[in-house]
Parts: sequence; structure tokens; C-alpha cells
Amino acid sequence: MLLVQKFGGTSMGSLERIANVADKIIKAREAGHQVAVVVSAMSGETDRLIALAQAIQAEPDPREYSMLVSTGEQVSMSLLAMMLHSKGVPARSYTGNQAGIHTNSVYKKARILNLDCKRIQKDLAEGRVPIIAGFQGVDSCGEVTTLGRGGSDTSAVAVAAAIQADECQIFTDVEGVYTTDPRVVSTARLLEKVTFEEMLELASLGAKVLQIRSVEFAGKHNIPVRVLSSFVEGNGTLITFEENVGLEQPKVSGIAFNRSEAKITVRGIPDSPGVAARILGPISRAQIEVDMIIQNVPVAGIIDFTFTVHRDDFAKTVEIVEEIARELGASEILKDKKIAKLSLVGVGMRSHAGIASTMFTALGTEGINIQLISTSEIKISVVVDEKYLELGVRTLHSVFHLDQQEVREEWDPHPL
Ligand code: ADP
Ligand code: ASP
Ligand code: MG
Repeated sequence: MLLVQKFGGTSMGSLERIANVADKIIKAREAGHQVAVVVSAMSGETDRLIALAQAIQAEPDPREYSMLVSTGEQVSMSLLAMMLHSKGVPARSYTGNQAGIHTNSVYKKARILNLDCKRIQKDLAEGRVPIIAGFQGVDSCGEVTTLGRGGSDTSAVAVAAAIQADECQIFTDVEGVYTTDPRVVSTARLLEKVTFEEMLELASLGAKVLQIRSVEFAGKHNIPVRVLSSFVEGNGTLITFEENVGLEQPKVSGIAFNRSEAKITVRGIPDSPGVAARILGPISRAQIEVDMIIQNVPVAGIIDFTFTVHRDDFAKTVEIVEEIARELGASEILKDKKIAKLSLVGVGMRSHAGIASTMFTALGTEGINIQLISTSEIKISVVVDEKYLELGVRTLHSVFHLDQQEVREEWDPHPL
């Protein structure tokens, strides 16, 4: 098989770990596979570089930001090449530019436009291991761009699409995709398969195990993606394009959460046509994405209007909203950064009623107040006070029978 193997930050975190990665690549080659590799920076390195930049300026110039943070991957790729050499395996490392990863010019959140994979293919044909720096590309002017946090996943899937790999293997620090983040809920269960649609929702709602764009890319180009551990042997989780909605399909497949949003409420504005557009128009023109929106029922012709944005965009959004609120004669603006979003995801939701009410009842029983709700065909999201995030996730995980123990009790005929 032709494989792309991507190794994340923890997997590349020290020379011992890089040696472990080299052994994995060698093992795959010995099993008869051709392997192209994509790497992340050593763990903590990208954060360290960003902190250095921000110690100089809160909003550093995006071009210089990308120049700086892309260096993390260049360290790890060349170390891995040397490690493979030391074990007698020919390998060559490539920057995004050298690997022909062409992006648009949105420096910090660039999108891959196309990939000219001649050098990668030549290496593969001649028995070398090409090692490509993840997270970076080059725009049409030759400037270095970066793909957004977690972007090496997307580099890997893009390389897999370009060389028409049989599978893109994302090696990370957990054994695959779980019912929820196993670092938060210890009873989270490893999923053998997850549908592409579910993975898309989980990734977009906060499960950082895969960058959302990598999942989009996999869908667009039909690339089988498997998430597995660099440290523990196993089959990991396959992202499947099968619909597999049968009788066995659980109602809820997984729970995602994030604390990266902030909530803004504009109070006491007139209930007149176009008010929502007056508030949200300038925000979207400032390239800020609004997530959840709620407008309450008017009382005496007056409404409150609430929405959420990413915390990184909070200050800018407040600045914009203050001006509009003045024009609209709003009574006040409420700002809340201490919120968390919890989301249930599952293709099985399509065919099961009552999931929302079970969810709301469970949260209510724990005294967790729901501030905002949004739904789609296969997900329900709620915003709650940040301090209830872990309690909320654990409660829902158990209410929807996702815990490992319960599965064992139900299914294992020979419990320990
Ligand atoms: P890498 O450096 O390998 O890219 P990341 O830290 O980006 O690794 O992603 C792996 C992490 O994703 C895990 O350590 C885990 O804490 C987190 N995670 C969040 N949700 C999930 C989930 N549903 N299943 C597995 N891991 C998850
Ligand atoms: N090193 C980059 C980051 O930390 C890209 C990645 O790890 O995928 O975001
Ligand atoms: Mg990652």
C-alpha cells in the first residue's frame, strides 16, 4: 500500500520519540508499504514561538508570524531524516515550498490550493522516504504561509490526495478517536469507526484530534483517514464514508466541547426589521465568524440579541458592537468569556426522537443552566457556564451510555 504517515507534536517530542517514529516508518516499509511522511513541530515548540512573537507585539505581522512559526516543523523534519539515515534508511526532508504545497495568501489560516508532488513521487519511486513539513505552504508570491493550529493534519491529507495514497495515517498521542476527549473523561471509549459526517462535526465542535480542514479535504478527495497512536499498537479509528446507519447505530456517537468562544448580548434594542443584520453585518465584514445566535421574544417592542464568537475575536467584536449599540440606543452590552459549548454528535440522531429532552433534563438535574442552544440534523450544541464543562461532559457521556464500563457490562459475556 501507499501510505502517508503523519506524526504529531507529542510523537516528535524528543530524540527518543523521533527514534520511535523512525522505527514505525521502517516497520511499515518492511511490511512492504511505500511511506511518505508529514511531521508536526516538537510538542510545545509552536506555542513557544507564538509566545516569543507575542512578547513583542500582541498582533504580530502575519507574514512574519508565519515565517517564525513554520520553523518548528523544519527542525523536526530534518531530525527525523537524520534519524532514518542513522538507521540506514534513505530519507529527505522538504519545506512546504520544496514539497510544492501551494496555498492562498491568508498567512495564518492559508488554504491549500494545489500540490505539485513531483519530488515526493521521485523519492518514493527511488526508495527514499520523503518527509514533508506539516502546517506550512507557499503562496503565489513565494511567501511562507501557515495553515492554522493543528494544520499538519491537513498537510497530511493533502499529500495523501496528491499522491493518491491508499490511506492517510494520523499518528498521535491517543489510540484513535474516542467518544469524547479521553483526557477529560477517563471512561471515554475508543471508536473503531466514525463516519465522515460525524468526524466533521466533532472536529468543528472542538475535538482537536483532527483539524477540521483535514476532514473536509478527506471528504472532498475520498481519502481514507485512520487515527492511531504512536505509542500503543492497534488499529485506531477509521474515518469511514459508509453510512452504516443500522439498528445497532447508537443515538449519540460522541461528545465534543470547547472553551474557545465568548458571548455578547446587546440589551434593550428596538424590535425592528434589519436589526440583526445591522449588528452582524459589520462583524462579518471584519472577517469575524459568528457561531450561535439567539434573539429573545420582544417585550414592549424591545429585544435582547445574543451571539458567540471565537475568544480571539472577542475584543475586536466588542469594539464593533459598542458603536452599533450606541446607534441603536441599546441599554447595555453584556460580555461573557466564561462559557463552554457542549455538543452531542451522532448520525443516529436522525432516526431517534427525544435526544434533546434527555440532554436538557440530564443537565438540569445537575443544576447546569443552558444559555444557548443550536441544532442540526446530527448534532445538538448548548452553551453553559465554563465551570460546568467537565461535569456536563461526564454527565452526558454516562446518560447516553458512552462509558466504557457500561459497554463491558452490556456486551462482554466474560467480564473481568
Ligand atoms: P497531535 O500533536 O498529535 O496533532 P493533538 O493534541 O492535536 O495531537 O490531538 C490529540 C488530542 O486530541 C488528544 O491528546 C486528546 O486530548 C484530544 N481529543 C479531543 N477530543 C478527542 C476525541 N474525541 N478523541 C480523541 N482525542 C481527542
Ligand atoms: N505545529 C502546529 C501546531 O502546533 C501544527 C500541528 O501541530 O498540526 O499547531
Ligand atoms: Mg493536532
